[in-house]
Amino acid sequence: MINARDEEILSPPKFPPAPLHVADQIKIVRDFCAELTPANIEETGCSVCGQLVLVKDLLPLSQQKVDLSLLVNHNLARKERTSSADPIEYEEGPILDETCGDTVCKSCLKSLKAKKRPTFSLSNKLWLGEVPEVLQDLSFAEKLLLSKVRHNRCVVRVAKSGRAKMTSNCIMFEAPMAKVYHALPPSREDMKEVLAFIFIGSSEPTDDDISRSPMLVRRERVSKALDWLKLNHADYTELEISRENLDSYPLAGVPVKVDMRYPGNKDAPTQRDPLEQSMHEVDEDVDQGTRVGKCPFVVRGLTGAQYENLI
Ligand SMILES: [Zn+2]
Repeated sequence: MINARDEEILSPPKFPPAPLHVADQIKIVRDFCAELTPANIEETGCSVCGQLVLVKDLLPLSQQKVDLSLLVNHNLARKERTSSADPIEYEEGPILDETCGDTVCKSCLKSLKAKKRPTFSLSNKLWLGEVPEVLQDLSFAEKLLLSKVRHNRCVVRVAKSGRAKMTSNCIMFEAPMAKVYHALPPSREDMKEVLAFIFIGSSEPTDDDISRSPMLVRRERVSKALDWLKLNHADYTELEISRENLDSYPLAGVPVKVDMRYPGNKDAPTQRDPLEQSMHEVDEDVDQGTRVGKCPFVVRGLTGAQYENLI
């Protein structure tokens, strides 16, 4: 008896194989186009878990026979307060993301039908609420000033080429001891210990350069963000907002001393990203980054053990 393997040895397939038949080519192209129709790639959020799901996999929540009381979680979805006189109130009904519309994904629906709260539902302590305008579009340095716990120290490097293109990166080092702030923003002395700023360019950074860099600190933005957090974030309720520290920061500027490096200097670090360079690369005429808008920013982390091995 001859099995398939013996048959292959007796009459091996021809090489190179014959070109694909036209009918097969047409089928492949048709299948490819069918896979790329909007119905197959369009995504929207599930109102129960907030995750992006293919539209074809979503069902209308209002038409399902499920008990929405499973999605009620008291003391979770806090209502926004605008003044300290406002009472602290929570949403009463099921916790859903209204912006997603009347939708539920198959996974959430399966749990609801089994009378269980879905693991990844917003009501399962994953609710965050909408990010208010005062916390949107903050720079890296501004976020550092709002952070209650400090785990890292960091060096931020911003490079500007002769053609006004800017790029930036940051290296984080793990601090030996995490620091918890009871008053924010931290004093400028504290910031000097945890943040360093290197600017590489042919001249000192202009106001425009600073406004495009991740080191921009706008005092008014920090103040408004802290006020909002104190009113609305449970972990910031006891926080003291230090107006004295706040006033020591510039209206719009850099919170720490600028360490200038000139590209002509042999010791100055290159403007190129070291991870994108080969060991023997010469990069004198290469410049990266953008001329308008915020400059690209990359953050990398280094843990204590890695840092020790480097020294
Ligand atoms: Zn879902």
